[in-house]
Amino acid sequence: MEKIRMITPLVEMDGDEMTRVIWQQIKDVLLTPFIDLKTEYYDLGLEYREQTKDQVTIDSAMATKKYGVAVKCATITPNAARVKEYNLTEMWKSPNGTIRAILDGTVFRAPIIVKGVEPYVKTWKKPITIARHAYGDIYKNVEIKTDKPGKCELVFTAEDGSVQKQTVHEFAGAGVMQGVHNTDKSIESFARSCFNYALDTKQDLWFGAKDTISKIYDHRFKDIFNDLFEAEYKTRFEEAGITFMYTLIDDAVARVIRSEGGYIWACKNYDGDVMSDMVATAFGSLSMMTSVLVSPEGNFEYEAAHGTVQRHYYAYLEGKETFTNPIASIFAWTGALRKRGELDAIPELSVFADKLEEAVIETVESGIMTKDLALLSTLPDIKITNTTNFMNAIRANLEAKL
Ligand code: NAP
Ligand code: MG
Repeated sequence: MEKIRMITPLVEMDGDEMTRVIWQQIKDVLLTPFIDLKTEYYDLGLEYREQTKDQVTIDSAMATKKYGVAVKCATITPNAARVKEYNLTEMWKSPNGTIRAILDGTVFRAPIIVKGVEPYVKTWKKPITIARHAYGDIYKNVEIKTDKPGKCELVFTAEDGSVQKQTVHEFAGAGVMQGVHNTDKSIESFARSCFNYALDTKQDLWFGAKDTISKIYDHRFKDIFNDLFEAEYKTRFEEAGITFMYTLIDDAVARVIRSEGGYIWACKNYDGDVMSDMVATAFGSLSMMTSVLVSPEGNFEYEAAHGTVQRHYYAYLEGKETFTNPIASIFAWTGALRKRGELDAIPELSVFADKLEEAVIETVESGIMTKDLALLSTLPDIKITNTTNFMNAIRANLEAKL
């Protein structure tokens, strides 16, 4: 078989630990035998981030702006223990945070659904994609604790000297207070990413906030979404046969539980943090969650939602057999390849991505799976395989399809 040709390279961001090992296997076993794989390689492994003083992370984000599509392996976010372990000169920032700050994007997370791993919510038949606003609110708060009585005020001093002031509370005794903010610019770029991704994946978009209680703050979110939709997206949504709905966050939660899935749920920062963990758990497994960062300009960065699976990596280093699930990492590659195929008009590339995903799902549905899925699966005959054998089984299924 002739290998599929690519035109524009994918931005490839390599990573750390077990996922770095799996990354190489995915390329060797499932991609390069079939595709003339073109990537611009950036090593985001912690050693090279240290060597380049993290410049490599910035470079990889800039390359994503240039080429439009990236695929990223999980990476270590250093903490005190990692600074020691890797002898770091600095506690480098989270690569995902750095990349997101440069691309100004929204993260969309969706579960991969297979028969045998049933969602806890019986009505859910299709994936629910959560879009979390990744800026502001309590994640950029300022807080004060007091032991004394007194008055808390909210004061805004404009550059022109004018002042807006509100009393937050007159304290009779001890208490806590908090100031939060967001910007129109960030909310609008969040809304834009959501509308674009809904069009891109042809799924309905839901957005929920608490505008009945927060009549200025949350209401601003509602207005920005609605105004942008009316001005720029309404006709495109109609043409695509999809809808946008705003509803109170409480109502959104109730509807989500009753729904059968198959839509995008846009959430404010805190709601997205909490609800993405609920949705991921209810769908079964963190190792089956995909993640894509979509920028308002339409750049895409695909990855797995899980981390570097450190515990498995140490077992691997000791020469023990490992059962790490590579599915979310494989789907990061298929997502990126499919998008590259669309942008460069290489249908074979998109078809390959579809077939590889089908091969993965059929492998699991035939009963061959890693331990994490075996623990959840309700299939009658299960064969637990290690990572290498699992990938070989996928390869065999893929070859049968090509
Ligand atoms: P993790 O890598 O997601 O793993 C936590 C546990 O979840 C694992 O020990 C394993 O459970 C299970 N698990 C996760 N992915 C799995 C897979 N593919 N197959 C099988 N089991 C899987 O989280 P962590 O151990 O807290 O973090 C490790 C490193 O990853 C940290 O340095 C963190 O900074 C980084 N991280 C990176 C990203 C990213 O780059 N996007 C995201 C999160 C965390 P068992 O041990 O029970 O088998
Ligand atoms: Mg969380």
